[in-house]
Amino acid sequence: MRPYKISGFKRSFGLIFIAAAVVAVGSVWYWNLITERLAQDARVSIVAGSRELALDFDRLLGAQLQVLASIGVSLEQSPLLQQPARLTEYLNRQNKRNVFTLTGFQFTDGKALFSNGAVLRHFLSKAEVEEAFEHSRYVSERKKNPFDDSAMLVFAIPLRRDGKRLGVVFGVQAVDAYETALAGATLPDGGLSFIIKPDGNVVMGYPQVAYQNIFNLGTQARFDGDLSAEKLHQDMQNGRSGLTGYTLNGSHRFSSYYPLGYNGWYALSVLPTASMAEKAQSLMLMSLVLCFSIIGVLGILLIFILRMQYQNSRALFRLGFVDPLTGADNLNAFRLKFPKAADAFRARGVPFALTVINVNSFKAVNDIYGFEVGDQILRQVAQALQGALEEGELFCRSGADVFLLLLACPDRAQLERRVDRLALQAGRFCRAGGEDCLPMSLTCGMYLVDEEVPFYIMMDRANLAWAAAKQRAGRTCAFYDEADRRQIVTEKRIESSMDQALEKGEFQLYLQPKCDFKTGKIKSAEALVRWKHPVRGLIPPDSFIPVFEKNGFVLKLDQFILQQTAALLKQWKEQGLEQVPVGVNFSRLHLDDPHFIDTLVQTVDRAGVEHRLLEVELTESVVFGHVERMKQVIDGLHEKGFSVAMDDFGSGYSSLNVLKNLYFDCVKFDKEFLASGEGNPRMRQIIAGAVKMIKELSCSIVAEGVETQEQADFLSGIGCDLAQGYFFSKPLPAAEFTQRLEKNQSRA
Ligand code: C2E
Ligand code: CA
Ligand code: CA
Repeated sequence: MRPYKISGFKRSFGLIFIAAAVVAVGSVWYWNLITERLAQDARVSIVAGSRELALDFDRLLGAQLQVLASIGVSLEQSPLLQQPARLTEYLNRQNKRNVFTLTGFQFTDGKALFSNGAVLRHFLSKAEVEEAFEHSRYVSERKKNPFDDSAMLVFAIPLRRDGKRLGVVFGVQAVDAYETALAGATLPDGGLSFIIKPDGNVVMGYPQVAYQNIFNLGTQARFDGDLSAEKLHQDMQNGRSGLTGYTLNGSHRFSSYYPLGYNGWYALSVLPTASMAEKAQSLMLMSLVLCFSIIGVLGILLIFILRMQYQNSRALFRLGFVDPLTGADNLNAFRLKFPKAADAFRARGVPFALTVINVNSFKAVNDIYGFEVGDQILRQVAQALQGALEEGELFCRSGADVFLLLLACPDRAQLERRVDRLALQAGRFCRAGGEDCLPMSLTCGMYLVDEEVPFYIMMDRANLAWAAAKQRAGRTCAFYDEADRRQIVTEKRIESSMDQALEKGEFQLYLQPKCDFKTGKIKSAEALVRWKHPVRGLIPPDSFIPVFEKNGFVLKLDQFILQQTAALLKQWKEQGLEQVPVGVNFSRLHLDDPHFIDTLVQTVDRAGVEHRLLEVELTESVVFGHVERMKQVIDGLHEKGFSVAMDDFGSGYSSLNVLKNLYFDCVKFDKEFLASGEGNPRMRQIIAGAVKMIKELSCSIVAEGVETQEQADFLSGIGCDLAQGYFFSKPLPAAEFTQRLEKNQSRA
């Protein structure tokens, strides 16, 4: 199981990649769009450029002709034409005011007077003069200035008087002077502007180029689409404007042409697309830089978000699947991993067991040594258990001091030995430093998974096995079996109904006589509880007292039996019967109650019963390990006048030595202990010896479980004082016992 999904990362980077791809495709599209747009713009501006250039030139040429026309008007009726010297002077004056470099007049005989005083013959050819008269104006081609060899244009206006030709007024303008106008119309970024003739010869251009015929150039050019030099030529022949695109010397250009109103000239604008591409490229570059910066920023943002997500998911994972104390898996992780691990065992054909391990009395360790030591112990136990895992096995800490394991179980006995060993190892706790070892005991419950049941049922079964192991003293682990389950179910049923049973009076007092061996007369009695269950009938105390001892309810029940006993004693007194002492059983749990004796006194006193009539029966197992407390209690009871009996002597650990230190008034021999003497002479000797020694401590002896005459004979023979057993009487309901007591006494 991973704390987070790598695929999340992959997906996000996939997204970034897709975004980059989209941007790349978008850029290509954008590039095309921009190029197309710029080309469009270029076409529009170049068309506008040539048109404007044409119009500007038309205006300019028109204005210059106008200047000549007004000179013409003033000369038409003037006598100056007959006075060459004055005419020259006049022309000179005019020339100073106008834009021409030279102003002049050419007579019909071909004599031309110039404002600078020069006189030339046929400055304008006959044909030129003819054209001027024909069109009432004349603009020359590019010509060589006869005075300084510079390039010039000549403008002329014809002059008539009374229908008779007088000559032409002309103006000379240097071609250079038009460069300003051309420059003004020139497009930026390497654009060119020309005034050309329809045959392609360049009249003027800017920037200055090696003047040649553009159709000569056109033959080297490769025209776009269906355009051609031919079409351009035709257009110009027919005075049409147009736009053409071509590639020359490896670079593409657009050129636009627009007719002027003079000489069939054309304004021609040329724009190399390379400059446009550069513009597009720089625009594109800017856009791309922008796009990729955005992607970069988004990427960084994404990485940041993913990092946060990763950290969050790790934190969540830790929260959900890791036990913070030991760093091991927690129950959630275990449950998630369990099905796969179980399947793997099944596939390998290896049986497996769900195992619950619990640290015994862990709460006490926490109370006595503090949580720090408690935590240290848990960590150590976890480490030991986890370290012992074999391939395919699982481990987790499922609760405070509870650990869960999935273990291979090739063989029950083998697993039991393994878990025993493991528990021993895991429980060997030493605090840091090495000294001060505190051995912990562990209890394990195992469920050999033999059925496909839900996980919680497996857990239930392992827990039941654990509870069974806990019950059986000296056992570390137990396997789940059906008997355990039934036992525990019964216990649960008992627990769930005990309080109600007490309230409803289902617990009843029975009394068993303790009799004189010889006469059989009732000398005293023992109070014994019975549960008259409405459904299950009479339940013997052995089935419920151990349960009540576990859950503490026995304290209430003993108190109830004590009250009943005291009431019965009171009743006997009232009936005028001779009261016999009654022994009441008290669980070892009362020893922990500091008010035990006080409560006892109160109860007995409330019924007005003499203390000597109550005998407190304490089982010998209580004595073991609690001699001091026992001594205190016995002394306390004696102080109040109660007598104390040691119950079940010989059933367990009791030693005669203990008896020397504890002043019991009576010792009750356990029926199993006595039964062990049956047909065993050596055991009989031991019993007899024990009786003798106890008698020396001035204790009386009650023999329990006397069932036969022989037993009675033997026991009375070795010196036992009283007999309690079926041979004399079974335990009787209180009323029946009272009747027996009456009979007993009346017989006497
Ligand atoms: P115990 O105190 O040793 O009580 C004597 C038990 O031996 C009684 O079992 C009694 O019925 C049984 N018994 C007496 N004579 C014979 C006989 O000849 N043969 C056989 N086979 N059994 C005989 P019971 O009444 O079932 O009680 C069992 C145990 O339950 C008692 O053992 C006692 O430890 C506990 N117990 C009974 N009543 C109470 C009570 O009110 N409070 C507490 N704390 N424990 C009680
Ligand atoms: Ca008893
Ligand atoms: Ca007993």
